[in-house]
Amino acid sequence: MGETFHVVPVDDWCGHEEIQDSCVCGPHTEFFFQGKVIVHHALDGRHADDPSWPRRRAAEVASETSLSDEITWIDHNGGEAG
Ligand SMILES: [Zn+2]
Repeated sequence: MGETFHVVPVDDWCGHEEIQDSCVCGPHTEFFFQGKVIVHHALDGRHADDPSWPRRRAAEVASETSLSDEITWIDHNGGEAG
């Protein structure tokens, strides 16, 4: 149940695994009512100085794909990471 969307950086050093949740980049997974968004980290470090980027990108994708009419965070990890 639920849909899964992958956000993969373009022109990255290597290919990313978009079939399973596990990927060499250790992607960030954000859960919403209707599914989840998996944001892959660019291995070239283009977002290294912007730690909040994965959550922002996940929220954008969720709204674009109607995963969530309003952003409702489901705290899957029991706390704020990093
Ligand atoms: Zn990846």
